[in-house]
Amino acid sequence: MRVLYITAELYPWVKSGGLGDVAAALPPALIAEGVDVRLLLAGFRGFLDVFPGITDIARLTSPFAGERVRVGLAPLPGSESFAYLVDHPAFYDRPGSPYAGPDGSDWPDNHRRFGLFGWIAAELARGADPGWRPDILHGHDWHTGLAPAYLAARPAVDGHVPTVFTVHNLAYRGPFPGAVFPELALPPEFFSIDGVEFFGMVSFIKAGLFYSDRLTTVSPTYAREIQTPAFGWGLDGLLRARAGVLTGILNGVDTRVWDPRHDAILPRPYGEGNAAAGKRAARAALQRRLGLEPIEGAPLFGTVSRLTPQKGLDLVLAGLPELVADGRQMALLGSGDSDLEQAFAAAAERYRGQVGVMIGYDESLAHLIIGGSDVILVPSRFEPCGLTQLYALRYGALPLVRRVGGLADTVVDATATSLAEGVATGFAFDDDSPSALMSAIARATALFREREIWQRMMRRAMTRDFSWAAAARQYAAVYRTLRPEPMG
Ligand code: ADP
Repeated sequence: MRVLYITAELYPWVKSGGLGDVAAALPPALIAEGVDVRLLLAGFRGFLDVFPGITDIARLTSPFAGERVRVGLAPLPGSESFAYLVDHPAFYDRPGSPYAGPDGSDWPDNHRRFGLFGWIAAELARGADPGWRPDILHGHDWHTGLAPAYLAARPAVDGHVPTVFTVHNLAYRGPFPGAVFPELALPPEFFSIDGVEFFGMVSFIKAGLFYSDRLTTVSPTYAREIQTPAFGWGLDGLLRARAGVLTGILNGVDTRVWDPRHDAILPRPYGEGNAAAGKRAARAALQRRLGLEPIEGAPLFGTVSRLTPQKGLDLVLAGLPELVADGRQMALLGSGDSDLEQAFAAAAERYRGQVGVMIGYDESLAHLIIGGSDVILVPSRFEPCGLTQLYALRYGALPLVRRVGGLADTVVDATATSLAEGVATGFAFDDDSPSALMSAIARATALFREREIWQRMMRRAMTRDFSWAAAARQYAAVYRTLRPEPMG
């Protein structure tokens, strides 16, 4: 079975969040399941610089301005697979993130940039590469939402190529003014409630949700939540209507990147057997790196996160005065909204030695924070799956999370019952309030002092299995519902 995996991000070359991590880990796991996967990427500089030997596959006339667009194919570095690249420098070879310029504002032609991306995916489904034609298109998030729409507008001549669409975050809906619709070269009737139209706007994610044959999202709880008004961003009605084809499949941990036993960034890699010593060394290195005092007897709380309202870190800011009482410490790495960046930078000044903050994006510091912290805080308002709590579990940094989405599915709150049963792996709270967060932090602090219980929780956390193999098996099962017969 041949699957075209369409993604805007791919770790380590182009990544703004979990989407890039998943694209690096899921395709190899699918290949191990026997699925023949190729990726479709946009020709961002981050890819062009590292991909060896890009060969020409096709030159297609774009439906937008009639330009010729080159589709290249390259072996994917470090993988058995290949990636197609939409090599159109006028659209993709720009500074900044995949979506926004260096000043942080979205590119004004994103509808055409990601429209073309989806259109090329549909062309590959229609046979643009005579040497490899996908049996299934699998798109990820709004950037790929138009692929199934273009395919629906002009199906492959010899039959339907089924499509799967995965929601990694419903909050990013790819909305554009309705006025851009004529630029997208879709049939006029597609601009309707049964189509890409969303309250007078064009929504790329709605296109993906409406036109795809199967839908998935990245945790079972999030699959239920997005069918409710509180988490549905206005798309809950459509998602309820499509509930029969919607599946929640939990993300995994890429142990090639996140394994404390073989993590070269840690001063002293560790497993369950020597976690205490390994974590002590990591904590000391982290304290030095962020200018924290070398305190040992109180827990160190860590966070690695995009700084957006989604992540609930304003609750942490509100709780900081109480958190630093008692000698507790906090280490934060993040970037995003400038008001949050400034507030955390100011907190680091005010609580010098107890609050360490690095504003920016830094893979190696991310590993050191996950390794060196006792507790990783993830107080998100919504969280489709969340990866940092999974890394934290593996590294024996007990996650303290809001009970939503994938956080609810992966962390077992320490209660009298779960502790007695030996299944507790972290801490969870419900209310969107600083006091709810702080009372969970107080519970964590109290248990941290019960060394034996804490060590037991750490061992349990470190041995939880969140493997990509399990996820890949579930995705392959979804593919098989669409292509029951193995294809040659
Ligand atoms: P989201 O996709 O919403 O950002 P996830 O928890 O699913 O959240 O994935 C976040 C990923 O991005 C993790 O791999 C995390 O370590 C990484 N990350 C987030 N912010 C930073 C940062 N400032 N520096 C390094 N890595 C970061």
